[in-house]
Amino acid sequence: MRKVVCPGSFDPVTNGHVDVFRRASAMYDEIVVAVFHNPAKNPWFSMEERVEMLKEATADIPNLRVDCFSGLLNEYARKQGTNVIVRGLRALTDFEYEFQRALLMKRIDPDIETVFMMTSAEYSFLSSSGVRELAAFGGNFESLVPAGVAKRLHEYYKAKNLNKQNSCL
Ligand code: ADP
Repeated sequence: MRKVVCPGSFDPVTNGHVDVFRRASAMYDEIVVAVFHNPAKNPWFSMEERVEMLKEATADIPNLRVDCFSGLLNEYARKQGTNVIVRGLRALTDFEYEFQRALLMKRIDPDIETVFMMTSAEYSFLSSSGVRELAAFGGNFESLVPAGVAKRLHEYYKAKNLNKQNSCL
């Protein structure tokens, strides 16, 4: 059985991520989308919220499961019964980061394979951080994220009063 892990922060999941999952789900028998704790990032949404949004957004993909983890990705992948990691790739800036990560992974665990899936052109500009920025300043993000995510973003910035365009002076 061909099984893969798609790890990420997904803070929050965007239509670009879902597009990669959908395409991967047509190529592999089972996809495990794993929200991971990235110590370099300070997330907007809790692990539970990110998992919940992913579950809603991928409910129609039958061979996909959502999970979360903290720790070494290679160890997690092995526990899931696979040595294949799928990552999405957008621009050159992604390449540098992904290249380093994939090579580091090979160094600590040579049997792990990282497979890159090229973004679809219509999502090549789309990132979780871009969506968060739009949400914070009251921009229109509805067409960029699954419906459940848009709803939560509205609630999030209302609760935090983030979209006030205060003067910087
Ligand atoms: P991370 O913190 O690991 O970078 P992200 O949630 O930002 O997690 O991204 C998870 C994966 O999805 C990464 O491989 C990233 O390059 C990819 N990705 C993010 N946005 C897109 C997009 N619009 N199209 C294709 N891949 C994407």
